[in-house]
Amino acid sequence: ASGRTPLMAGNWKMNLDHLQATHLVQKLDWTLRDGKHDFAAVEVAVLPPFTDIRSVQTLIDGDRLELKHGAQDLSVHASGAYTGEISGAFLAKLGCTYVAVGHSERREYHHEGDDVVNAKLKAAYTHGLTPIFCVGEGLEIRQAGTHVEHVLAQVRAGLDGITAEQARSIVIAYEPVWAIGTGEVATPEDAQEVCAAIRTELAELYSGDVADGVRILYGGSVKSGNVAAIMAKEDVDGALVGGASIDPAEFAAICRFR
Ligand code: PEP
Repeated sequence: ASGRTPLMAGNWKMNLDHLQATHLVQKLDWTLRDGKHDFAAVEVAVLPPFTDIRSVQTLIDGDRLELKHGAQDLSVHASGAYTGEISGAFLAKLGCTYVAVGHSERREYHHEGDDVVNAKLKAAYTHGLTPIFCVGEGLEIRQAGTHVEHVLAQVRAGLDGITAEQARSIVIAYEPVWAIGTGEVATPEDAQEVCAAIRTELAELYSGDVADGVRILYGGSVKSGNVAAIMAKEDVDGALVGGASIDPAEFAAICRFR
């Protein structure tokens, strides 16, 4: 929509070991090239588990693939005594462009609140990574009809202290929790309502210029069969795709949404 380059990002979650990751990236690249995919017109990124990133980077660099890659999370810290954590500095050295921050599975299973999400967004910028900042409401909030307020509160809290220059490059993913991994996709109108509200909020927090440039993705049970209707909406600039992104033919079909 309006001059913004769509982004299709595949969140593999905790799936695929390094051999499977290598196969998937090769198949995805072949399928996209077979379909004459224009990577400048629709950007494609994969977010593998940490342990696959080196292999994915080697393939992408070695074969000069036009796919981009990133991580699913990062530490709030740069280095030190934080056992099991992964620094954004390490991700930057592995050629990551993107890092997902605040995915609902992190918020729910790892108790990441808005303060942690805010610190992770800042850490991403410190290390030159572009955050894919995830927000979205649960089912109860949707049923109560307060989903827009809820999501905008997450946006404001996450962006606290983030400068306009930083915000210009951010990617925001609106992912209603009730639609993630459930097969129950939001309607295009639901997606548009919240993505438009996020853009208006960005205009208030920063400027109309920043708001116009930021890519806002929809995520939640996106498939090749429902992506076109969602992408037709003015304020939806791409998709964050979970389950369907580990099937290369299906993910390639999503990337060819037009
Ligand atoms: C996700 O993991 O961000 C996601 C949207 O998952 P799914 O596409 O499987 O609903």
